[in-house]
Amino acid sequence: MIDVKTAFLLWVIQANTLAILLLAIWLHGREQKHFLWFGLGFLLHASGLGLVGLRDQIPDALSIQVANAVSLLGFSLWAKGLAALDHRPAPRLVWLPPLVWLVGILVPVIRDEFALRVSLYHVGASIGFAMLAMIAARARFSTGRYRTFLTVTWGSQACAGLAYGIFVLFQRPASFADNIFGVWMGTIAVIGFITSVIILAKITMDRSQEQLQTLVRTDPLTGALNRRGFAEAYQGLVESSPLDALGVLIFDLDHFKQINDRHGHSIGDRVLQEFADVCRSLLPQRAVFARTGGEEFAAVLAISEPRDAALFAETVRLALVDRTISTGEEMISVTTSVGISVSPRHRADLEQLLSEADIALYTAKAQGRNRTSLRSGDRTVTVPPTREDSPQEEVDRQADRQVAILKRISAVAHKLDD
Ligand code: GH3
Ligand code: MG
Ligand code: MG
Repeated sequence: MIDVKTAFLLWVIQANTLAILLLAIWLHGREQKHFLWFGLGFLLHASGLGLVGLRDQIPDALSIQVANAVSLLGFSLWAKGLAALDHRPAPRLVWLPPLVWLVGILVPVIRDEFALRVSLYHVGASIGFAMLAMIAARARFSTGRYRTFLTVTWGSQACAGLAYGIFVLFQRPASFADNIFGVWMGTIAVIGFITSVIILAKITMDRSQEQLQTLVRTDPLTGALNRRGFAEAYQGLVESSPLDALGVLIFDLDHFKQINDRHGHSIGDRVLQEFADVCRSLLPQRAVFARTGGEEFAAVLAISEPRDAALFAETVRLALVDRTISTGEEMISVTTSVGISVSPRHRADLEQLLSEADIALYTAKAQGRNRTSLRSGDRTVTVPPTREDSPQEEVDRQADRQVAILKRISAVAHKLDD
């Protein structure tokens, strides 16, 4: 059987190695704060226990008061790390483990008796494990299975720690020499440590994999889906939509080349980002939005009838007219033409929908741009743009605008329906 001091030393080496590894990972991607907190947590926990292991070789104040507080502070930082992994702020409760120790140690009876101090430390550690279990139980990261594993592991460690704290009260050891760390307590600590590290490693690996998958499907400039992401999301919508029809819309910015030529490529890029923002902010919940080409975007909507798609297209078109963008020297505004195609959901074919929307887009461009055309059967209908398009003529209320758009769509709706 190894003695307590050797056990402390092994734990310090192991936890510090892990701390260095975690801090190195954090240095590579500083937005991933959980690695920082986990790393610092292991560093403090190990340093604290290291100081405990130096009992009789360093002043008692350092190897008792400071050492145990620092070690319990490790729990607070692990809890912060776990909350950061879940993209939530850590609850204030996280500071409880070192606080319990610091308050308890003020009581002379506890401060002066070894067994009571060991018991107090284990109460602090149990609170720490219970806190971790609680954060894991409420978290939204990863799968429910892994979260349950973590909750059970830390919950068991909290119970074991508490049981041990009580056991020590009965046994009343006088020093570490009394072999107070029974085999069972050490075994539980090691199993708990290995299990939680393995599960957390798996969770962070899965997350990196997911982030990589998102990158592969996303346009880096606008954050919209790219063509690959678009095709996959389209399929998802076809399979899950509660409505009977689909509308595919292609937006192509008008005279975009002139914007690049006049104001430079970076202003052109800003315009693309602004357009994506406008479109995203108006998109219904179950919809797909992607950048499918240089200054071309596509959206797929679940619709009940063709006019739903036309209403969305016109709403976006007019919102874009309203959005002015500063070049630093002047304010510019951009317009978009929109081509729409529709299909019953059970017969929807993406390639065909896109090529029909393209024909409609061509019509919108040919008729003067800044307008919406819709392909229905072998006919293309253009929604009449109104005087309202003029930026000087402001439409104050969103409701008025929707009514005005619907009126214009109704004027051509009979051509869509038959
Ligand atoms: P139209 O009204 O007929 O659509 O005319 P247009 O000028 O918008 O169309 P055209 O196809 O002639 O020009 C599209 C321009 O978009 C050309 C290309 O340099 C620019 N472009 C493509 N991708 C990007 C990009 O990522 N950033 C910027 N700034 N420009 C881009
Ligand atoms: Mg184009
Ligand atoms: Mg264009």
